[in-house]
Amino acid sequence: MSILITGSVALDSVITPLEKHDNLLGGSGSYAAVAASFFSPVNLVGIVGSDFPPEHIAFFKNRQIDLAGLERVEGATMRWTGEYEWDLNVRHTRAIALNVFENYTPSIPEAYRTPEIVLLANIAPALQIHVLDQIQRPRFIIADTMDLWINIAATDLATLLQRVDLLILNDSEARLLTTETSLIRAGKKIQALGPKNVAIKKGEHGCLLFGENNFFSCGAYPLEDIHDPTGAGDTFAGAFAGYLASLDHADLSFDDLKKAVVYGSVLASYNVEAFSLERLRTLDFSHIEDRYRIFRAMSHFEQI
Ligand code: AMP
Repeated sequence: MSILITGSVALDSVITPLEKHDNLLGGSGSYAAVAASFFSPVNLVGIVGSDFPPEHIAFFKNRQIDLAGLERVEGATMRWTGEYEWDLNVRHTRAIALNVFENYTPSIPEAYRTPEIVLLANIAPALQIHVLDQIQRPRFIIADTMDLWINIAATDLATLLQRVDLLILNDSEARLLTTETSLIRAGKKIQALGPKNVAIKKGEHGCLLFGENNFFSCGAYPLEDIHDPTGAGDTFAGAFAGYLASLDHADLSFDDLKKAVVYGSVLASYNVEAFSLERLRTLDFSHIEDRYRIFRAMSHFEQI
């Protein structure tokens, strides 16, 4: 099945209490596309500037990511700087320069217009809607978002929610969007806004999945060594979407979505072991299967 992913492609600076790295490959679209590429071929839609290093283009191409939808224009690539506290769940955006994203309207190549699965990784909801407007209704539409858009683009976000099958967001964003303290209530309230399915990520505490009449709670891999949580959410979403795209049956069941949550959690757990996308560069499918099995063992218990 074909998968279309749109999102940011950026150059990041990331500061943790122990390390600082500049000019890293980043962006929601980059993480999502690379994670999805472990499961299925990816068509990436986004924009970079003339300063975008050719080695990153080569990396995408090596991962079978089609770049006909990645515009390259004169100017500077989007730049973002994030700084983490000792509690790596707490991050501050220190700087963001949208640069070539400032006046970008995604244009979807003809060959991308009939995708089976679409992942709208985190960018402005108006751009996410613009992508949907240019394609045939796919089998399954996934959208990711962030606190910024809940705060400054609530109307666009509400319109987007009417059109997606699954919204992925983290716990604090779910609370911000719904003004609920209970994540269970928040999940149900978000479903009432449009998406039949909602995934609420809880960082190192796992993920909750709300389906039409179903609920699933997935733990997180007990990692000891976290270097850089940047992109964990995008990696989760990318692997989730990529796994769904790899299935050959027509109707996606709740069991499929549960497995997608586990694959998303597995890829995200690898991603945070190193800065930028470095860990994903050295990953192969046997590593993914190893951790999938561990997730399964961790959540298994006997019947009464
Ligand atoms: P995450 O850690 O999953 O929230 O994703 C972090 C990535 O999102 C970084 O690589 C940033 O380049 C990118 N990013 C940060 N802010 C934005 C934004 N406003 N729009 C799109 N992408 C962003």
